[in-house]
Amino acid sequence: MTSLTFYGGVNEIGGNKILLKDKDTKVFLDFGKGFGRRNKFFEEYLNPRTANGIVDFLTMGLLPDIHGVYRDDLLVLADRKPEEPDIDAVLLTHAHADHADYISFLHQDIPIYMGETCHLILKALEERSARTLEKEVLSFRQRPYDRKEEPIPRKIKEFRTGDKFKIGSLEVEPIHVDHSVPGAYGFIIYTSEGPIVYTGDIRIHGTKSQMTRDFIEKAKEVKPIALICEGTRINKNGKEESEQIVFNDANKIVNGSDRLVFADFNFKDVDRMRTFYNIAKENGRKFVVKLNDAFFLKYLSQDPQLNVPKLDDEDIAIYLPKKGSGTYSDSDYKGAEKQFVDQDNCLTADEISTKKSEVLCALGFYSFTSLIDMKPRPGAIYIHSASEPYTEEQEISEDRTQNWIDHFGMNKYQCHCSGHAQGRELLETVTEIAPKTLYPVHTEHPDLYNKVSKNMVLVEEGKEYKI
Ligand SMILES: [Zn+2]
Ligand SMILES: [Zn+2]
Repeated sequence: MTSLTFYGGVNEIGGNKILLKDKDTKVFLDFGKGFGRRNKFFEEYLNPRTANGIVDFLTMGLLPDIHGVYRDDLLVLADRKPEEPDIDAVLLTHAHADHADYISFLHQDIPIYMGETCHLILKALEERSARTLEKEVLSFRQRPYDRKEEPIPRKIKEFRTGDKFKIGSLEVEPIHVDHSVPGAYGFIIYTSEGPIVYTGDIRIHGTKSQMTRDFIEKAKEVKPIALICEGTRINKNGKEESEQIVFNDANKIVNGSDRLVFADFNFKDVDRMRTFYNIAKENGRKFVVKLNDAFFLKYLSQDPQLNVPKLDDEDIAIYLPKKGSGTYSDSDYKGAEKQFVDQDNCLTADEISTKKSEVLCALGFYSFTSLIDMKPRPGAIYIHSASEPYTEEQEISEDRTQNWIDHFGMNKYQCHCSGHAQGRELLETVTEIAPKTLYPVHTEHPDLYNKVSKNMVLVEEGKEYKI
């Protein structure tokens, strides 16, 4: 018997947790954090309690209550007995939190398969951020927390395109796709009933669209019995978009300016990072990165295919924020960030303020207090290069962003292209792959796929679908 059960990504964007059973083999396709359902109950100062182990997450529906899945320490905190792991593997499509982060809760003996580059990104994330229960993907500390105990590493299995591997009765073929983070994959999984295809997150207008085409081509060839397809933007059909257009638009803005320039984007989006790095170079400016983002350069420059500049690249500078004593004393910088502080390409806010036309700062809203020290002159530039706000909280921070911009007399611009394919492209993808049955996920509008699929399942959460 082969079946699919969807525990996340159902009528919501992200949070994918899809259980595939085939004979005695059980694998999860992604195990992500569902931001929507978390935001329904929690916010900045109201969080699930770590001291309660897994209980808050189970009770509020952030995690499915299934047997043989979770960490021993978290079950014990929940007054339950530890359980033998009953899942053979997790297949992770990419490093975005809505696909990866709730791996944090899984039993340490469950192997996690991921692309090599995806692993590099997760290493950068692990090294740069404070350990919290919801961010322990590669290793975790037993709760209750004991600082002296070493973190427990997970069993990570890396793959690259072209690899095929067996898990129980399944054979898995990962194929690269283009998305707003490198190291993203779709899967073709050969089950005892026939091949199943899972897209993960995909886009077709990106710099490496050929990778998504390769995936679609291969998926079509195998004549899948089931296609699990993302539908983030199934309801959106906008104007033409591409990374090149983002480059052209932003470059034009920077080119005409002798003022400070700030670019606000997600550093995991390596295409976008390269876009602004190149714009900086083209305009004779140094590309200034945050201490926190230096971790991405450190790890991603190890993959030659990504073409990411090294930290000591002559066009890179690191912004050294004022901390602790306010005097840039060595003892102000702690933990992993210390490794970057001694580099001779570090710049303080005062130094940046004297080089206004010589830098392009990859700094966003959360670094706005540094504007106070950098003293941008009226007409300085703020380029917002991420998706526009779509939750109420994001709208509030957008208002706040605008207040800072107004206070310093800066000019704000929006330059962005999405990490996801548009509606028309998604419909074409499904038509081309022509699966026997379609299971839309990662979308608030699964029904819109009915235009192209006669045999479509509007998935219900937790229900097992026989294939
Ligand atoms: Zn996603
Ligand atoms: Zn994604």
